[in-house]
Amino acid sequence: MLAKITPVLCLVLSTVAASAAPCPADALGTARILSVDRSVLTVGRKHFPTTLPLAAKEVVLTFDDGPWPGTTPRVLDALARECVRATFFLVGRNAAAHPQLVRREAAEGHTVAHHTYAHPLLDHLRPEAAMAEIDRGMAAVETALHGHAATIPSAPFFRFPGFASSSPLLDRLAARGITVFGADLWASDWNPMTPDEQLHLVLDRLESAGGGIILFHDTKAQTAAMLPAFLRALKTRGYRVVHVVPANPKVAAK
Ligand SMILES: [Zn+2]
Repeated sequence: MLAKITPVLCLVLSTVAASAAPCPADALGTARILSVDRSVLTVGRKHFPTTLPLAAKEVVLTFDDGPWPGTTPRVLDALARECVRATFFLVGRNAAAHPQLVRREAAEGHTVAHHTYAHPLLDHLRPEAAMAEIDRGMAAVETALHGHAATIPSAPFFRFPGFASSSPLLDRLAARGITVFGADLWASDWNPMTPDEQLHLVLDRLESAGGGIILFHDTKAQTAAMLPAFLRALKTRGYRVVHVVPANPKVAAK
């Protein structure tokens, strides 16, 4: 009896394994992992003096404002098809509303980072209120990931909504060992355009910049729609994807 069912079990197991790792031979892939330690305070030349230590034609893919049903799953599907890993800067209230998407991002190996709770422009708030907003966002994301709140996040990476930083807030985040991400180039996907227009805009900017941290929004349908073609273009044009991770990730308490 056992001999008869074993082949069936093997077939089922191999099917499961294949569907869990559908990485084609010509996939773009993640070229390398870059650990960012807490001594790195700010990165991204759009707003700060320096950026990550990237070589020519290396890119870091970042997505802000999610997770969002309908678009974030399409972005994750596109990344999975090309076997590339990205960094998501989450809005806490979206993480609280869609915790399964936060857990999917983490389960698929992406870096889950932080972008406040409700996306206010923090330079309009008193520093205490701004820090409370940052902490509430981190707590919501950590709760989605681990089931309990924490204001020292698993990945101590933060991006200001609208890049609206201030010196007092940068000082406070630095004191807590949190790296603030800007970007080296924007997709400008807050401006409505067709997916094809979006694709050409970001590819033109990438060719001019030669690489760097790219800012997308996984809440935007035009971005989700163009991402498969964008990742294919990275492959054919010889760009390499770098995945940023925290150097010493905090182990979540049980
Ligand atoms: Zn944002």
